[in-house]
Amino acid sequence: MLILECPYCGVKAEETELHGGGEAHLTRFGPGSSDDEFHDYLFMRENPKGVHFERWRHVNGCGKWFHAARCTMTLEVFGTYSAQTTEPPQEIRDAITAKRPGWSWREFSDARS
Ligand SMILES: [Zn+2]
Repeated sequence: MLILECPYCGVKAEETELHGGGEAHLTRFGPGSSDDEFHDYLFMRENPKGVHFERWRHVNGCGKWFHAARCTMTLEVFGTYSAQTTEPPQEIRDAITAKRPGWSWREFSDARS
């Protein structure tokens, strides 16, 4: 079972106490954007076999949204952090590269565009 620590209240919660909110760090496009930008914002998501950044809500706890970095193959959690960030904090990136040498932030997005 996936267990994530809520960065706000510090509770280690099983995934049944949480609600997944999809991919983290999406760039939002709205009125004034191109059709392609809006299409990608609505429909294009990363689906890596490996490190993924996700939004989670501590629905049966403090109710706040946070971000988590985990491996989709092993369920290894590299850390959780505030949802009020546009990129993963450096300590999360360091935790990932310590266990996945050669990993880099947004390698998926860069390959997609
Ligand atoms: Zn919480």
